[in-house]
Amino acid sequence: SIALVWFRRDLRLFDHTALYHALKEYDQVIPVFVFDTTILAPLPCADRRVEFIHASLRALKDELQQAKSDLVIRHANPVTAIPELVAEFRASAVYTNRDYEPDAIKRDTEVAAALREQGIALRTFKDQVIFEQDEIVTQTNSMYSVFTPYKRAWLTKLNDFYLRSYPVARYLHHLAQLAAQPFPSLQELNFVPAGLADLPIQAGTIGGEALFENFKERVDRYHLNRDFPAVKGPSYLSVHLRFGTLSIRELAAYAWREGSQGAQTWLSELIWREFYQQILWHRPYVVHHAFKRDYDALAFSNDEILFTAWCQGQTGYPIVDAAMRQLNQTGYMHNRLRMITASFLVKDLLVDWRWGERYFAKQLIDFDLASNNGGWQWAASTGCDAQPYFRIFNPVTQSTKFDSDGKFIRRYCPELSALQGKAIHAPWLANQATLAAADVTLGVDYPWPIVDHACQRDKALALFKHRGRTP
Ligand code: FAD
Repeated sequence: SIALVWFRRDLRLFDHTALYHALKEYDQVIPVFVFDTTILAPLPCADRRVEFIHASLRALKDELQQAKSDLVIRHANPVTAIPELVAEFRASAVYTNRDYEPDAIKRDTEVAAALREQGIALRTFKDQVIFEQDEIVTQTNSMYSVFTPYKRAWLTKLNDFYLRSYPVARYLHHLAQLAAQPFPSLQELNFVPAGLADLPIQAGTIGGEALFENFKERVDRYHLNRDFPAVKGPSYLSVHLRFGTLSIRELAAYAWREGSQGAQTWLSELIWREFYQQILWHRPYVVHHAFKRDYDALAFSNDEILFTAWCQGQTGYPIVDAAMRQLNQTGYMHNRLRMITASFLVKDLLVDWRWGERYFAKQLIDFDLASNNGGWQWAASTGCDAQPYFRIFNPVTQSTKFDSDGKFIRRYCPELSALQGKAIHAPWLANQATLAAADVTLGVDYPWPIVDHACQRDKALALFKHRGRTP
């Protein structure tokens, strides 16, 4: 009997829940991937994510070919493509891992309905999180909306059972032997290379494993280094978690067993990821609305000129500009900088958090709806367990604290690289001699600040305090 395994955000051959179950239960398993036209069509033709997926699929295909099988790829709407593949291969079931995003849930419901008409089941499995849906709820069966008790409950429930990896390799002989399948080029998918090759990002499981091995050497210092963007502190594994080129069970098990203070802090971050996943699952309205619904009434100014300056890294605040340029150039932004730039957009530029969320969604190679939405709503004070609205980051203080010698700023704002001392954090406060010595003319080489922080802070406080009411 034949089953299809439909790969989505789980582009690996090891510790893969749906693949494991299909291989155990069927003697002929056919791996399939659908480039979803409904997702791809609106994207610009150069997209790093598509390039990452494409490269990771290439690696997956190579591994499958070594196992004498192959990867069947389609470029279509899965709602029609999956039933067609079932008919083509005379499969009796489709196995896949669950996705918790509202659009994905809708798509899977439609695929399941189409398959039902063929008398075929869509079997779905938990794979991309340790605990999903309502596995971690309060004693009164409601969702946690505060992180610390959620984390406590998560850690209390955790045991070896939830961390064990699925021994896929043991059953790989149940992969169907397939004739060589075509592999579409990026051009055939209507995309062009987006410069992934120039970035220090290696796709596929091999790339993920190499990065993870490198991080293991640093994990015990994670809690000390993770907040400083010029230091190689974090793991940079987010893109691999996003596309499942690594397994969350492998990472969480490592962090849990390693146990050092650094590893525990890192495990906390993996739990934040699940915290936001369960919020999206329980409260899918957060995609369009504030988690705290009364914050939907915030009347943002939404000045397009200020927004464009923020996007382009031309605000005149070096830490914000360096961060936005890092995002634009590499598709990655350090977590501390995501918080600083998000806060700056909302509370200094008074632009709707959804504008920033959308911009990040386009640029981030690790874009994940749940984490991005959660991060933005945290910074905008509209989310659950968010930064209280009256705690407003001062970009200069943040810069002085987390990039004290300006090393990160100099990397992405080379026009400021010769500035000495405190001037690197706030060039407009520097005296003329300091600017001249560094060959910086404000308004020519680098912008004057586009807003005054103290003044905007007062406006933001009034806006948030009187939301929905005329001040
Ligand atoms: P590490 O510090 O090594 O953390 C390990 C893993 O834990 C990460 O890979 C990620 O999966 C998870 N993680 C870490 N911090 C968080 C967090 N605050 N929330 C949820 N998960 C976390 N993360 C994304 O994966 N995709 C996004 O689209 C995204 N958008 C964000 C937007 C904003 C405004 C903010 C403030 C944060 C956002 N984050 C997002 C969370 C975090 O910034 C990134 O996960 C992290 O910077 C990725 O780098 P890393 O893999 O080196 O992280």
